[in-house]
Amino acid sequence: MSAPRAKPHPVAGPGPLLEAVPFACAAYADKDGALVAANQRFLDAFSALPEHVRRDALLAALHADAVGADAPPQEVHTPHSGRWYALHWGKAEHDGQALSVLTAVDISERIEALDSRKSQQEKLLFTSRMMSVGEMAATLAHELNQPLAAIMNYLNGSLRLVGQAGGSAQVSPAKLEHALTAARTQAEHASAVIARVREFVRAREPKRSEQDVSVMAATVMELLRLEAERLQLRIDVLLAPSLPPVYADRVMIEQVLLNLTKNAIEAMREVPAAQRELRIEGRVNLDDEVEVRVADRGAGLTSAQQGQLFSPFFTTKNDGLGIGLAICRSIIEYHKGRLFFEPREGGGSIFGFTLPRFGER
Ligand code: ADP
Repeated sequence: MSAPRAKPHPVAGPGPLLEAVPFACAAYADKDGALVAANQRFLDAFSALPEHVRRDALLAALHADAVGADAPPQEVHTPHSGRWYALHWGKAEHDGQALSVLTAVDISERIEALDSRKSQQEKLLFTSRMMSVGEMAATLAHELNQPLAAIMNYLNGSLRLVGQAGGSAQVSPAKLEHALTAARTQAEHASAVIARVREFVRAREPKRSEQDVSVMAATVMELLRLEAERLQLRIDVLLAPSLPPVYADRVMIEQVLLNLTKNAIEAMREVPAAQRELRIEGRVNLDDEVEVRVADRGAGLTSAQQGQLFSPFFTTKNDGLGIGLAICRSIIEYHKGRLFFEPREGGGSIFGFTLPRFGER
């Protein structure tokens, strides 16, 4: 008995040629958009859609546009099979007939891998925010204690004034108003601190908009101020008012600045206090991006360490997790920027990143 013959090709034309293409492939006549030939892979992927026999009907079913031969591939989702394809178009001629040749590359695995990496990254980001906040809790308790103690002082003073008025002396409304206004200012400060922290820990979809680097840096400095004071560390924030705004998610970039600044502070724990100098600077680089640099006077990095710096779980700290820089890098790359390291002249490290300018994204 002879071997079963391959199913005859359903349409005449350059079918056998298409069979050699390792992707789903079909040719449509330019004159009327009818299917002229298709390989088996194409039929397996699309023949369940009755629209596959006409070019425009198929594109409509896939929510795709008819794009030209030199246009980038379009990614479409097939509702009947749940798979993702990248559609490429080419031009060909067969027997005097002008054809549009469609190649559909199955990219489902790449899309699924991207999706799961994205949700993993979101989880990591959230965990790291929670950890940073956990570490900051002691600092914040201290930070909130100060306005609360001040509020108590002003209120005690006010009560004393009222108490005196109950006796013989007249209460001075100006004095009372001054003390109560001062108490209210302190309470507003405390509630602003809490509001910022709440905003900081909320994991959410990235939202990019016009942002000012110096405002984001100020938020981060506020969170690290006490730690810096404790270490007698000098911080110079050199961000000129002329630095153009960036197109960024504020909370994410604050997270990056916080990680880089915390690392810089930690790197300087062991150096003499007089050398502990942290500098944050910004400029527009030659590629017309905004570049922010966090420079420290710590011990710097060996070349072996530099090679592994951005790999997840690389850490030289006993209590380190080694995910901070990896997260920073994915945040910056999400923003189409670049995270980089370079040694600082005179000793120490510089960690920097670039961000697109607002309006030039
Ligand atoms: P972690 O701080 O938990 O170790 P990171 O990903 O933030 O995780 O940093 C990874 C490693 O990179 C650190 O353990 C340290 O060895 C090195 N590193 C990061 N920032 C600096 C810096 N400013 N100076 C020296 N080494 C640094």
